[in-house]
This record gives sequence, structure tokens and C-alpha cells, in this order.
Amino acid sequence: MIRALFSAGNHAWPEYQETLPPAFRAAGLTVDLSREHAPEKVDYIIAAPNGPVQDFTPFTSCKAVLNLWAGVEDIVSNTTLTQPLARMVDPGLTDGMVEWVVGHTMRHHLGMDAHIHGQDGVWRTDYPPLAQDRPVTVLGLGALGAACAQMLASLGFPVTGWSRSQKALQGVRCLSSDTGLTEALTGAEIVVLLLPLTDATTDILNAGTLALLADGAFIINPGRGPLIDDAALIAALDTNIAHATLDVFRREPLPENHPFWKHPQVTVTPHIASTTRAKTAATCIAENIRRGEAGEPFLHLVDRSKGY
Ligand code: NDP
Repeated sequence: MIRALFSAGNHAWPEYQETLPPAFRAAGLTVDLSREHAPEKVDYIIAAPNGPVQDFTPFTSCKAVLNLWAGVEDIVSNTTLTQPLARMVDPGLTDGMVEWVVGHTMRHHLGMDAHIHGQDGVWRTDYPPLAQDRPVTVLGLGALGAACAQMLASLGFPVTGWSRSQKALQGVRCLSSDTGLTEALTGAEIVVLLLPLTDATTDILNAGTLALLADGAFIINPGRGPLIDDAALIAALDTNIAHATLDVFRREPLPENHPFWKHPQVTVTPHIASTTRAKTAATCIAENIRRGEAGEPFLHLVDRSKGY
């Protein structure tokens, strides 16, 4: 009998209680799933960084911690966690992110705000450009960034992507390295951030890199708040940045009095770009447990030296 401990917020338990057992059965696994196993008997922990387990030391037989979230910056910094840590790569999470990124890209590309907010009797016939004339850059070409970049490319946007290691993605100009970042940002009209939060990515959009973007550029950040230097962004909204759509922030919930809320060139969404979907995520968790039991390598292991 495999013992799996569920350590995430209470609100998540009902849907995983429903979706995990059939996923375990489909993977040929017999799993005792509970929120209350004795620590030394636990084989796997299904975890969220805000879950009840914060000290992983007593889980001496635990073969892996399976994170329910894609972002791992909080859990990876937990020094008691020495077990292998896998992050969440879930088709439902990816689909949701693609839809959100494409939606907000199209809003800015088509200039929808002018018509949604400008119902003032004036017949404005400014045609939006075609996607093929709107360079888009996606920072981060992992599970989420690559899917967004490829969907945007399929709509006709000239898409440049940037990642730590060099990638080859059909229809996407892929760059890496510091010079690649400069090249990726220079003249970009829409920039989507889908990098993990690490020391190397903090403030990656700062006064210097923001200045590389085209005049009238749009920023879309569903990655993590600290990827952007907030003060530099607010200053750049008076120069070359037309609008920033921000889903993530240095402090969440974003404090009520934060200038982003009222800034006319900022759209705040409350960290809802996407989320792990229990139905599809359950299959991913079951597959990783199956692998652990079969002695096969886990999928999506976090590299602690890189921090993601
Ligand atoms: P992945 O780990 O799959 O991808 C991360 C990408 O960023 C990789 O391409 C990686 O390069 C690249 N990268 C990391 N560090 C650097 C660096 N220093 N320089 C250049 N490139 C770098 O993550 P996901 O795509 O699954 O998720 C991305 C982020 O999205 C998450 O970390 C999380 O913060 C955020 N997120 C936000 C959600 C929301 O609702 N707002 C929901 C889910 C996730 P390489 O491929 O070479 O390793």
C-alpha cells in the first residue's frame, strides 16, 4: 500500500479527494490518500507551499514531494525539504495560461480599450495592424511560455522567445544568453513574462531593459511580480510603455492603496491567469507516483541549484 499525504489548503481537498483516486486506479496504483498519515510512513507528499506541512524533516521514508503549483520559489527555499521535489506541469494549467495570454495580447493588439471605453459618438476608423506586423516577445520558454509563444505564432505574430538554454520551437525565434535578452526585447511591442522567480530573474524588466522596448509597447506579466522593477515600470509608463497588464505582484493580495490599482495604464488581475486543474493534475500526480514505484525518473524535477 502506497501512502500519499495531501498537504495543501483546505479548499483544495474536496476536488483532489474526488479526482486523485480514479487517477491512481487508472495508473494501476493502490494508494491510501489522506491528510493525516503518520509522517514516517508517508511515501509521497502532494504539497502546496501554503499547506500544513512546513517541516519535511519527519518524513523520513518520503520518496518525493509533488508540488501542486508550477511556481516553486516558496517551497524550494524551505531548507527542511531534502526529498526530490517535482513541480506541476498540467495540461489544464497550460491551456488556461495560453487562453489568458492570448486574450490579453489580442486586447492590446486590437486596441479594444478604445472602443470598450470610447462609446462617445465619434466614428473612429483606425484599423489595427495585422498580427504579422506586431513583434511579440515571450520571456521563458518552459511548459507555459513555449505553449503561449507557439499559440501566438500560430495567430501570425512574429514571436521571439528567450530562455536559459537554447530552444528550437517551430515558428518561434528562440534566443538565449544576455545578448539574446537584449535582442529579444529590442523593438518588441508586446512582452509576455513567463519566467520563474529566481535571483537571476528578479527585476529582469528594469529601467534599462524596459527602455529597449518599442514606443507604445505593452507588458503582460503572468509570471511573478518581482520579475519587474515596479518603480521603473511606473516611470516607463510615462515614456515608452503604453500599458501593463499585471496578474502577479510583489505582495499579494496587492495592497488596496498600491498605485497600480488606479493607474490608467495598468490593468490588475488578481493572480488568476491560470491555475492547476484538479482533473488533469491528478493524472500528472499519479504518473509521477507510478514512476517512483517503478524506479523510473520523476517528471519535472526541480533543479535546486537553478531554483526552478
Ligand atoms: P518552466 O520551469 O517550465 O519554464 C521556465 C522557463 O524560464 C524556462 O524556459 C527556463 O529556461 C526559463 N528561465 C529560467 N531562468 C532563466 C534565466 N535566468 N534566464 C533565462 N531563462 C530562464 O516554468 P513554467 O513555464 O511551468 O512556469 C513559468 C512560471 O509561470 C512559474 O514559475 C510561475 O511563476 C508562473 N505561473 C503563474 C501562474 C499564474 O496564474 N499567474 C500560474 C502558473 C505559473 P530553460 O528552459 O532553459 O530552463
